[in-house]
Amino acid sequence: MSTTTRDVSVFGDGISYFNQAADLLELDSSMRRILTHPSRQIIFSIPFQRDTGDFEVYTGYRVQYNFARGPAKGGIRYHPGVTLDEVTALAFWMTWKCAVVDLPFGGGKGGVTCDPSQLSTNELERITRRYAAELVEVVGPDKDVPAPDVNTTPQIMAWFMDTYSMHVRQNVPGVVTGKPLEIGGSRGRTEATGRGVTICALDQMAAMGLDPKKVSIVVQGFGNVGMYAAKLFAERGCKVVGISDVTGAYYNDKGIDIAHAVEYVGANRTLDGFKGGDKISNSELLTSDCDVLVPAALEKVFTVENASKVKAKLIVEGANGPTTPEADRIFNEKGIVVIPDIMANAGGVTVSYFEWAQDRMGYFWKESEVNARLEETLLENLHQLQKLAKTHNTTLRVAAYQLAIDRVVRTSKLRGIYA
Ligand code: NAD
Repeated sequence: MSTTTRDVSVFGDGISYFNQAADLLELDSSMRRILTHPSRQIIFSIPFQRDTGDFEVYTGYRVQYNFARGPAKGGIRYHPGVTLDEVTALAFWMTWKCAVVDLPFGGGKGGVTCDPSQLSTNELERITRRYAAELVEVVGPDKDVPAPDVNTTPQIMAWFMDTYSMHVRQNVPGVVTGKPLEIGGSRGRTEATGRGVTICALDQMAAMGLDPKKVSIVVQGFGNVGMYAAKLFAERGCKVVGISDVTGAYYNDKGIDIAHAVEYVGANRTLDGFKGGDKISNSELLTSDCDVLVPAALEKVFTVENASKVKAKLIVEGANGPTTPEADRIFNEKGIVVIPDIMANAGGVTVSYFEWAQDRMGYFWKESEVNARLEETLLENLHQLQKLAKTHNTTLRVAAYQLAIDRVVRTSKLRGIYA
């Protein structure tokens, strides 16, 4: 991949953040070279039969970025915009995310370039089973453990687990996380990423002297991450003034009834037609009046075009890669505090780790235990970041990369490079 391509690619954004922290750590050029290359990238065709009887061929990806700290770990995305570059960037971020919360995992990610809204349940099942079958040799509880991401659900994880288990002729719940409870899922996993976003946001608000009962919050994206984050903010007495999904955005300065919005999406699949706020565009939502802004949709939503118009004091990155490096510089200049994706949305992978551990023990924890351990893990590491950022006078993002890179480098050096 040329430098020019990297400059405009999602992976390029990731490398740019990595380099800032690597400079501060004075990371040697050999380690830098190793850590800026994915260990393994797999691309394959997924022929599948439409309900009409016709065959189509989609493209599937799995990138296993780094294994220094343990098996690769990361979600599977079904979206028309999935590319090798995007999946590589997401696998790269998973490497640092797992390290920043000190989990015994490396980083991975997968995807299928498809539009699930145009597929029936049976078609989704056939695509998922073929996707899983193509990866049988390279995934497993000690190799690579996928999970849900954009447009993939516990049901899709169940099909993945079943296909893998059929191929290896034994039940292997720990091959994938984010499963339904009945087949080895963990209590609290579905809400975990949104819960983690609120845990990090509330802690940072306290550090900034913002009263949760007085702040206004905007959440972009109303899927797994955004919906649960909004719900948990509302339950903690925060006023959520804006929400959105792919159909548009809704703003109400008196506060949106989030329980009603959740119910509405349950009944209608999307927010289209929601009457709990004024309809505005998704781009207007990002620059609307609020104290806390939570991007929880896709990457590259904050760019040089809109960053200077953002009014929030705190941005909590529920999505992966929502901020381009140029926008990040602007936020920093404006004094907007950003809790970076690799910390803010690490709640999901943390409870995925708990699920993997419970599957291996065959012993399942109460939800209160999962939530307490989640909060402890996130806050312990967030506090390290806050301290590191203060000591080095850097942003939380640079501090997060510093902490994560240092942990990966230490394990890489202990293991040595087998060359
Ligand atoms: P999801 O598919 O459940 O929801 C995505 C939401 O974003 C949907 O409401 C969709 O309508 C909305 N959306 C899509 N395009 C949009 C646009 N242009 N403007 C506004 N809204 C838009 O996905 P998710 O699992 O909630 O993932 C969201 C983000 O969080 C992704 O970046 C993902 O990588 C990241 N993430 C997810 C998890 C997890 O556990 N699910 C964990 C960590 C990070």
